[in-house]
Amino acid sequence: MKRRTFFRSSLAAVAAASIPHRRPLQALARGLAQVPPDLDAVTGAGAEITVRGRDVADLAAGLRGRLLLAGDDGYDTARRILNPSFDKYPALVVQPTGAADVMRAVDFARAHDLLLAVKCGGHSFGGTSTCDKGMQIDLSLFRDVRVDPVARKARVAGGTLLGDLDHEAMAHGLVTPMGTVSHTGVGGLTTGGGFGRVARRFGLALDNVTSVDVVAADGKLHRASAAENQDLYWGVRGGGGNFGVVTSFEFQLHPMERQVVAGVIFFPLARLRDVLEVYAEYGPRAPDELYLDLLVIKEPGDAPGVAGFQVCYTGPEARAERALAPLRALGTPMVDGIARMDYVAVQRSGDVSDPRALGSYLTGGFFPEVTQGLMDALVNGFQGDPRRATVVFMQPSGGAINRVPVDDTAFPHRSEMANLGINTGWPFGQDPQPHMDYARAFWREVQPHTRGFYTVDVPEGTTDESVNRNYRENFRRLVQIKNRYDPGNLFRLNTNVQPTV
Ligand SMILES: Cc1cc2nc3c(=O)[nH]c(=O)nc-3n(C[C@H](O)[C@H](O)[C@H](O)COP(=O)(O)OP(=O)(O)OC[C@H]3O[C@@H](n4cnc5c(N)ncnc54)[C@H](O)[C@@H]3O)c2cc1C
Repeated sequence: MKRRTFFRSSLAAVAAASIPHRRPLQALARGLAQVPPDLDAVTGAGAEITVRGRDVADLAAGLRGRLLLAGDDGYDTARRILNPSFDKYPALVVQPTGAADVMRAVDFARAHDLLLAVKCGGHSFGGTSTCDKGMQIDLSLFRDVRVDPVARKARVAGGTLLGDLDHEAMAHGLVTPMGTVSHTGVGGLTTGGGFGRVARRFGLALDNVTSVDVVAADGKLHRASAAENQDLYWGVRGGGGNFGVVTSFEFQLHPMERQVVAGVIFFPLARLRDVLEVYAEYGPRAPDELYLDLLVIKEPGDAPGVAGFQVCYTGPEARAERALAPLRALGTPMVDGIARMDYVAVQRSGDVSDPRALGSYLTGGFFPEVTQGLMDALVNGFQGDPRRATVVFMQPSGGAINRVPVDDTAFPHRSEMANLGINTGWPFGQDPQPHMDYARAFWREVQPHTRGFYTVDVPEGTTDESVNRNYRENFRRLVQIKNRYDPGNLFRLNTNVQPTV
């Protein structure tokens, strides 16, 4: 070694040895501006704890992404989710940029027994992607889509929004089923189900997952597919975020025309029963290429209520009118917005430009057919109010969704006609009570005509027992997988499967 080099490296060594708390000083350089004060936090079970500021600085120093504390730029954006009714303050937020950061964050949360929330698109109705005084892993910096048009596969990072995937895949004339609002997260949507405009044709989003990378509670990355870790692969497709953070999804893609026939057709609210009768008869036998979402809407203010359909026909354009004929037979509509459109634009057409302006309450469940009882409950119970938006929607099931055997994935609802949602929305800041009370009362009348619920829209007041029952015959296997991959229930902010070990 040359003398000068030796001199410099010796100096560095002496300097390092003489500086107390060397690792926090690395944090000064790469993570936080200074070692933060100790943080008040809570465990998953709700016990109050203190997390040492020095440990937090260490964590920050080891990340490629960011660590945010209250008051930091970006902290408020991260902690908030779409529904402003959930106004929670995590003790710390980790924003990973890759799987390595997720592994570190999960190790830290487990080692400190911290309450842990995982956020992708932030659309959770139950507010599970944020928390008070725990750690939030916010995946919003971890978005990426890589399409292989030859293999017809897409690799998608765990924080990606579904509009990113639609956009990239359609550039090659390819598609995979996703939801209907482009700023929904691929993470929550796919691990829970994934109903959308092409699901009757190609299955749920989760039916098109061919492999996943999951950081489980042990902080390790597990690859799962039909060939390896089959239990985890099975469980992640319907078991939500119960087993860990999915850092990468691989999806199968399908060729599809970019131009589709889509839009809304609405009739006066007074014709709701006629609309329901058409839906009851035609919904189950409609072609798989037709997305048929029954909508009943009364917007705030004086606008009249409407009943009708949102449609998207993705088959050959020449056959679109035949597929729509039963709806047209209802007569002259109040609104006819059905036209030839770009699929990616249709997928963005329901986006909300100012989502946080609205408080929102959702409840609902699946139904196997439209019975007279269901029709009566909807016709008699639907009540608009000028102070709020009142909406009933029916996300179609059937088609390819119902052709998947119930034990192929953890998602068990394979014999339903649709998922019915009752949604009220009010300007944020207004008293939410009357709008939530109305939705609950309406749901009490509708519920007896439904069975089970979509795990991503868990109705309020749902007990642990009904959550377990809702996983139906797949529940026992889910518990076994939970015992293996998350025995301490680190991932509990979801439609939770509780471990039994
Ligand atoms: C406006 C709107 C439109 C919707 N439209 C549809 C629709 O058309 N079809 C449909 O099926 N559903 C729809 N949903 C429901 C939606 O699929 C669920 O709310 C879903 O959980 C949202 O996912 P997210 O990543 O945006 O949510 P987040 O709030 O970010 O996450 C919800 C939960 O998912 C889990 N999670 C998220 N990312 C990951 C990950 N990478 N790994 C492991 N777990 C993860 C976590 O447990 C988290 O608590 C809609 C919701 C809204 C608000």
